[in-house]
Amino acid sequence: MSVPYSIKTLAVAGTDKQPKASDKIPIIARPFVSDRAKKTLDIVEKFVEEECIPGDAVFSQQLGLTPDARFRAHPPILEDLKKRARELGLWNMFLPKNHFKEGAGFSNLEYGLMAEYLGKSGIASEATNCNAPDTGNMEVFAKYGTQAQKDRWLKPLLEGKIRSAFLMTEPDVASSDATNISLTMVKDGNDYVLNGAKWWSSGAGDPRCQIYIVMAKSDPGNKNVYRQQSVILVPFDTPGVKIERMLSVMGYDDAPHGHGHVTFTNVRVPASNLILGAGRGFEVIQGRLGPGRIHHAMRSIGAAERALEHFLARINDPRKKPFGKQLHEHGIQLERVARSRIEIDAARLQVLNAAIMIDSKDAKFALKEIAEAKVLIPEMALTVIDRAMQAYGGAGVSQDTPLARMWASGRTMRIVDGPDEVHLLQLGRNENKRGPFLLEKVEWQKKRGEEMAKSYGLQNKDVLQLDREWSKEKSKL
Ligand SMILES: Cc1cc2nc3c(=O)[nH]c(=O)nc-3n(C[C@H](O)[C@H](O)[C@H](O)COP(=O)(O)OP(=O)(O)OC[C@H]3O[C@@H](n4cnc5c(N)ncnc54)[C@H](O)[C@@H]3O)c2cc1C
Repeated sequence: MSVPYSIKTLAVAGTDKQPKASDKIPIIARPFVSDRAKKTLDIVEKFVEEECIPGDAVFSQQLGLTPDARFRAHPPILEDLKKRARELGLWNMFLPKNHFKEGAGFSNLEYGLMAEYLGKSGIASEATNCNAPDTGNMEVFAKYGTQAQKDRWLKPLLEGKIRSAFLMTEPDVASSDATNISLTMVKDGNDYVLNGAKWWSSGAGDPRCQIYIVMAKSDPGNKNVYRQQSVILVPFDTPGVKIERMLSVMGYDDAPHGHGHVTFTNVRVPASNLILGAGRGFEVIQGRLGPGRIHHAMRSIGAAERALEHFLARINDPRKKPFGKQLHEHGIQLERVARSRIEIDAARLQVLNAAIMIDSKDAKFALKEIAEAKVLIPEMALTVIDRAMQAYGGAGVSQDTPLARMWASGRTMRIVDGPDEVHLLQLGRNENKRGPFLLEKVEWQKKRGEEMAKSYGLQNKDVLQLDREWSKEKSKL
């Protein structure tokens, strides 16, 4: 790979004094990271710090001001950065090498380390063709698509020429339980006809979004509730598909991708558009989500790191001296910095562990660790971002720092891909399976302690002397 950067020093003022990304890989993860991945990681860091983070502001400007303009826009800086990323060999790093031949040849762990840096910028993920929901959608095509589906949709997605959306959530049912999905899908000759509504269809607003991967109810009478759904491909311009409106996230429109509220009225698509087969929708959505949750989590670690950077910058700003001292001279701020450092580092180990587990077998093998990361990391990131916002005072909640937007986006992570409660319930249930055994164990250990005490000639006494009878006897001695 040709490297047009000198990786040793970053151009950003002062960053040459910082260790490189590859030097900061946690020691327990290092044995699993190849030299090639380390080199690429350093290039990712430099690309994000020097080109993508400064480019975020350009991207915002190029989007335009009116809703119409913002959802038509394709900011030129994005294509420039994509070109640059490809020259640097930073493309499709997310497709793990042990399951797909189409990617850049990295493991989940190696990509996880890179995704942390991508998460520091709003545009870095798309600049490297590693952005959600396209990443999960490309995995669906690569894993379950027919050759014809791969040629038609996966190829241009891998090249970053088109975008895609995944349509599962519906406005009228509790969609965190996917058995509720009710958009109808009825067989008619060689076609299926779809009717209903979807919302939170991320990416649907992008003018380059050409394909929707839709979950629908194809067999409502099936006794097995996990066989009632199917996943089918619907090109965006199929007659009867209508984007009713775009939803905002706490006031942010996330243009141009956005989150669509889409209706389907007698939408007809050929049966050959089915993914994997009728009634196999659950298999598809489960296969899609595993590593994706880790990607979100790793990007959130990067967001937390960026928030901490802003936090440190602010408390060292010599112009800001409340009550006669700079903020870093107020102990409470340093304690918040220290807590942020501890929490980010602990969370990173947790998510890297999940990535190593996936690499050692597959996402199913790492369900517990993935769920842990899904719950822990957004909470951690929100706390760290919140501390940084607080240090900025009014500026922290305004558009003058990236923090408010990062917080709004981070807050959605507790809902997207299943709300916290679903993962907590599952984790709690699984953990509780050990309960009956632990009850027996605790009782056994108590009895065993009594037997051991006897073997030393001791009676079963309360050593804290709260036993009044024993205390009385003792006072007679
Ligand atoms: C920014 C953003 C992007 C998104 N992108 C997409 C996308 O691209 N495609 C897509 O299909 N969807 C997308 N979603 C939708 C998201 O996945 C759903 O919102 C989520 O799965 C929850 O479903 P729901 O909104 O129907 O809430 P519901 O299922 O109605 O749940 C509402 C609340 O009920 C509570 N709850 C749920 N289950 C339990 C439980 N077992 N125990 C206790 N309480 C519980 C939780 O507090 C939960 O938040 C996106 C959402 C957001 C915010």
